[in-house]
Amino acid sequence: MDITHTHVPNQAPRIERVETLLLDIPTIRPHRMSVATMHAQTLMIVRLWSSDSIVGIGEGTTIGGMSYGPESPEGIKLTIDTYMAPLLKDGDPTRVRALMAKLGKLVKGNHFAKCAVETALLDAQGKRVGLPLSEFFGGRMRDRLPVAWTLASGDTARDIAEAEQMLAGRRHNVFKLKIGMRAVRDDVAHVAAIKRAVGDRASVRVDVNMAWSETDAVHGLPALADVGCDLVEQPTAHAASLARLTRRFPIAVMADESVQDPETAFQLASARAVDVFAVKTEQAGGLFAAQRVGTIADAAGIELYGGTMLEGSIGTASAAHVFSTFPKLQWGTELFGPLLLTEEILVEPLVYSDFQLTVPTGPGLGVTLDEDRLQFFRRDAAHRLVSVPAGAVTTGV
Ligand SMILES: [Mg+2]
Repeated sequence: MDITHTHVPNQAPRIERVETLLLDIPTIRPHRMSVATMHAQTLMIVRLWSSDSIVGIGEGTTIGGMSYGPESPEGIKLTIDTYMAPLLKDGDPTRVRALMAKLGKLVKGNHFAKCAVETALLDAQGKRVGLPLSEFFGGRMRDRLPVAWTLASGDTARDIAEAEQMLAGRRHNVFKLKIGMRAVRDDVAHVAAIKRAVGDRASVRVDVNMAWSETDAVHGLPALADVGCDLVEQPTAHAASLARLTRRFPIAVMADESVQDPETAFQLASARAVDVFAVKTEQAGGLFAAQRVGTIADAAGIELYGGTMLEGSIGTASAAHVFSTFPKLQWGTELFGPLLLTEEILVEPLVYSDFQLTVPTGPGLGVTLDEDRLQFFRRDAAHRLVSVPAGAVTTGV
């Protein structure tokens, strides 16, 4: 071996430090779903510091702690700190695919944690080469994405008032209602009242979050179609059941919880189990995985919808970059996560106007964290240790 060569500093940058933190941010109102009611959202933020002074940012966020999926913000933090950070340290951050393949070999599952790390690597690489993240996915088809709003206060009159406010402000004209907590007949009445109020000014859709049995769905789907509902998201849990419902009723059926990664997307597509896929970057296992889910849907003639894990601004921006590159996005997106939170963590908030989210154009994610707010909202900030949200895990003083 040439000894002089080994002493020449490597030109490729190295990952020097991996930082994770949990931010607890209140929601603007209780968010009621069949699986949980949320009063606050916990964002797990990861930052990768490299030797070329570039810092990449990623986010891992779940819905209602662990009530929706298999990972929690605390678990994502632990997985990154304990198992991923040592594998990333001293790695070449410009080799995003290679690093993620290495992580994939040594860490099974943990899609949300992988998505957060991959986002941070891509954000850093975008900043390094001066390109928006969307360019790594073939370039954007659109600069603005339609954004649905979820009406989930649990109260019909309050939901109608909220819908009217969103329409008047031209912020949303697509409403998704969270149902499945009450009897099918009561849920249908709730949907009917809201559709009657908004009429042709808005599209009304529902998300059952797997709460129905197939018998419930057999009654629910035609009744929902009758009252003007356009789309039913994950009415039942199992793929075979979704396939039967999709064949039996003309109303569009969408899979969300069933689309866990490209492999499950392929199985659903092979069985033509649904009409639409909700693509979620975290659930799919990362941004490249989400792109593969989109490609599988496209090849199978399944329509697409850009889903959310109610991420904050970082996760929302990263998903927006990926969804902006989908050749077809027939059902728009629901990237409203930051709007559900009372506090902003970016220097410049994401722009929502005229029923759409503007995909940032700067290098990487194209967003900048507000350091002061980050330090203020972190769970282990000294001033917060006195009042920790119920059920949250505290770190030591
Ligand atoms: Mg859903």
